[in-house]
Amino acid sequence: MAQIRIENIRKEFGDFTAVQSSSFTVEDGEFFMLLGPSGCGKTTTLRMMAGLELPTSGRIYIDGEEVGQKPASQRDIAFVFQMFALYPHMNVRGNISYPLKSQGMPRAQIKAKVHEVAEVLGITDILDRPVGGLSGGDRQRVALGRAIVRAPKAFLMDEPLGALDAEFREHMSEELRALHDRMGATTVYVTHDQLEAMQMGDKIVVMNHGVVEQFGVPQDIYDWPATKFVAQFIGSPPMNFLEFQGVADEGAQSIQLGDSTHQVPSIREGAKGKLTFGVRPEHVALDDAAPYRGRALATEYLGTTQIVTFETPNGVLKARLPSSERIDHGQITGLRFDPRTVTLFDAESGAALKSEANEKVLSNG
Ligand code: ATP
Repeated sequence: MAQIRIENIRKEFGDFTAVQSSSFTVEDGEFFMLLGPSGCGKTTTLRMMAGLELPTSGRIYIDGEEVGQKPASQRDIAFVFQMFALYPHMNVRGNISYPLKSQGMPRAQIKAKVHEVAEVLGITDILDRPVGGLSGGDRQRVALGRAIVRAPKAFLMDEPLGALDAEFREHMSEELRALHDRMGATTVYVTHDQLEAMQMGDKIVVMNHGVVEQFGVPQDIYDWPATKFVAQFIGSPPMNFLEFQGVADEGAQSIQLGDSTHQVPSIREGAKGKLTFGVRPEHVALDDAAPYRGRALATEYLGTTQIVTFETPNGVLKARLPSSERIDHGQITGLRFDPRTVTLFDAESGAALKSEANEKVLSNG
C-alpha cells in the first residue's frame, strides 16, 4: 500500500483555475476524504492523483516517487467511479476477473483470486449471475471487487455511493469502511456530504473554490475550524456567527460583545475591526443571570434535543438545548457561551484568529 503526497498542485483549464496550489499527504493505510461543495475541485484533484488529468504545476508523489507526469497505467491505482459501469454482457465472475485476464494471469490463479475477493465482499453466491439483474448494493460490491482484485497501491473513489438512496447509502458506507479496516488499503474518497466525511474518514481535506481550507482529523476540523467557510460547511446546524466591531488583544482572555464581556480561549493573534464570534449551537446555554440577551424566534423539536433560534444584538443564533427546557415564542432570556469552545474570526478574510485552544490544530493544517 502507499503514501500519496501532493505538493502545490495546481490545475488550470484555459483561464479558469480549478485547483489552486494545494498540498496535503495521505498516509499509508488511511481512509482520506476530499470534502467540499459542488465545483470546488475535488474530482479534478482526485483525477490528478490517478493520472487521468495532468497538473499544470506542482508535484505528486506515491511512496516517495514523483509520478505527477506519469500516465494512469503506470501508477498502479484503482479508480472507482460514481457510475460503477460494469460490463453488461459478462457475469459477476467475468467482471471481477477482467483486470487479471488483461494482465495475462494464469486461469487457476485468477479463479483463486476472484474467490478470495468474493469472500471478502460476501458475494460468492452470485458469482455466476448476470450483472443486469443485480441490486444497487451488489453492483457496488462487484465494482469494488473489480478494483480490489488487482491489489493496487491505493483506491481512489469519486462519490461511489452518490447514486444510492439515503438508507442504503448509510449501510454501504459502513460496509465500505469495514472493508477498508480489514484490508488496510490507502483510500481517497470524494464527497460533498459532510456527515459522510465525518463518519468515514480518518482525515479530511476541506476544499472551496479550488483552495484547501483545512486538512486534519474530523474532530479537530469540527472543533477548531480554520476558516468561516469550514465552520459553516461542517456541522448541522452550522457554527453560529455573531458579528461585531471590536478588539481582540493578544494575550486577552475575554472580548467585549456589545454591552457584555465574554471569556474566550487566550488570544495568541490579536486583531481589531470587523470580527466574528463563532460558537456551535451545542455550546450555547440558557442562563437567566447572563447579561447577553436573546429573543426566541422559533423552536425545532428533535426528540432528545431542540434547536431554538434566537435574535441577538449581533445576529441570529441557534442553540441546541435539551427538549426538557421550556422556551416560549418571544421569550427574552440570557445566553451563555462555553468559553473553552469559542473561535474568533477576522470577519473579512474569514480566517480563524489563533488562540490557546486552536493554535496546535491550525499549525498542523
Ligand atoms: P462536483 O462534486 O460537482 O463534481 P467537484 O468539486 O468535484 O464538483 P470538479 O469536477 O473538480 O469539482 O470541477 C472543478 C471546476 O473545474 C468546476 O468549475 C468545473 O466546471 C471545472 N472543470 C472540471 N473539468 C473541466 C474541464 N475538463 N474543462 C474545463 N473546466 C473543467
